Amino acid sequence: MENKKIVFFDASSTTPVDKRVVEKMLPYFGEKYGNPSSHIHSVGVEAGKALDDARGQVAELINARPGEVYFTSGATESNNLAVVGYLNAHPDSGKHIILSEIEHFSILNIGYKLKRLGYEVDFLPVDNNGLVSSADLENAITPRTSLVSIQHASSEIGTIQNIKRLAEIAHQSGIFFHTDSTAGAGNIPADVEDLGVDCMTLSAHNFYGPKGAGAIYLKNGMRVSSLFEGGFQEDGLRPGTENLPGIVGMGAASELAMREIESRNKKLVSLRQKFWNGLNDKIEFIHFTGHPEKRLPGHVSFWIEFVEGESLQLMLSMQGIMASSGSACSSNLKGEDEEDLKASHVLSSVGVPEEFCSGSLTFNMTMDADESDVDYVLDKLPPIVERLMSMSPMYADYLKKRNDS
Ligand code: PMP
Repeated sequence: MENKKIVFFDASSTTPVDKRVVEKMLPYFGEKYGNPSSHIHSVGVEAGKALDDARGQVAELINARPGEVYFTSGATESNNLAVVGYLNAHPDSGKHIILSEIEHFSILNIGYKLKRLGYEVDFLPVDNNGLVSSADLENAITPRTSLVSIQHASSEIGTIQNIKRLAEIAHQSGIFFHTDSTAGAGNIPADVEDLGVDCMTLSAHNFYGPKGAGAIYLKNGMRVSSLFEGGFQEDGLRPGTENLPGIVGMGAASELAMREIESRNKKLVSLRQKFWNGLNDKIEFIHFTGHPEKRLPGHVSFWIEFVEGESLQLMLSMQGIMASSGSACSSNLKGEDEEDLKASHVLSSVGVPEEFCSGSLTFNMTMDADESDVDYVLDKLPPIVERLMSMSPMYADYLKKRNDS
């Protein structure tokens, strides 16, 4: 039987672990099994050194000092540690926080919970390209605001925020600024000095490292409280024996990202352009989402009138093409009704009409992608879209109206 081509354009969900990263991790599942806290014997010391090295590598990736990087289990934990940890460490600070409407649920759901606990929470809107406006942030700040958290880049629509400006505005009022750089760090420049952030979330599996490893950057002098009671690992900020193989993998992935980010991105931007042009030429009723330029390098996202995203995703998957479908729309974006917002948020926020939200697809290429992959998708996608459109009652309606007029 002929081998089916596999095109993995779903880097928004995860990336494959780089083989060079796996190689660096393997000894830590085997002969290098020490616990970094066992300072007293050589097996532990060796583990401690690996932990320090990885911390240095991650720090270098984001231009931080090693002492400002703390390892966690991933982005969800880092986001919780940043927001909940900051508020817990500052119980007397104002009870108002600002998030954006297009945050990941690991931030949004904290916002809802805090609202139930009596906090004021503002969810800033975004424009049609997915950008938070600095004027909106300025206007939302009150004397009671204690924290702002705004995502660096969106996995769903690819938009990269102007974090530097947003952090500057928060700092003018002395407010702590966190950015969730899960989709950013390791894929685009995420220099904490340049961005001027106090705190940043990083996730290894989003840049060719392993799952179960993440980090939080916390600027020297800033304080967050641990979410757990336990020992003294990670300066007590994240107690519990470290996931050393994962952390070593995150370090290795960071080092590779730093070395290769430019060449990876040059290639990805060119593939993105080719893909974008091809889609634009071949697919009628296509609408691209996110910012046209300020976007993740290999990221193309869109919705197609009359086409249901999940059906499209399924039929593509039968051809070996892997993408993700955007969430459905939500009519309530003010964070007033949690359940309603859970139905979706990002697409509604960028103004996709509710009846078309279900057509949304996200393609995010990995560094392994090449032109033949893009050609393959451009070949397979149009007939599938045509077939789905022909099955749509809304499309039939549209054709009837067009013929009648
Ligand atoms: N933040 C963003 C922007 C994400 O896209 C995701 C999901 N990949 C997360 C946080 C949560 O990541 P994880 O599920 O790996 O903890």
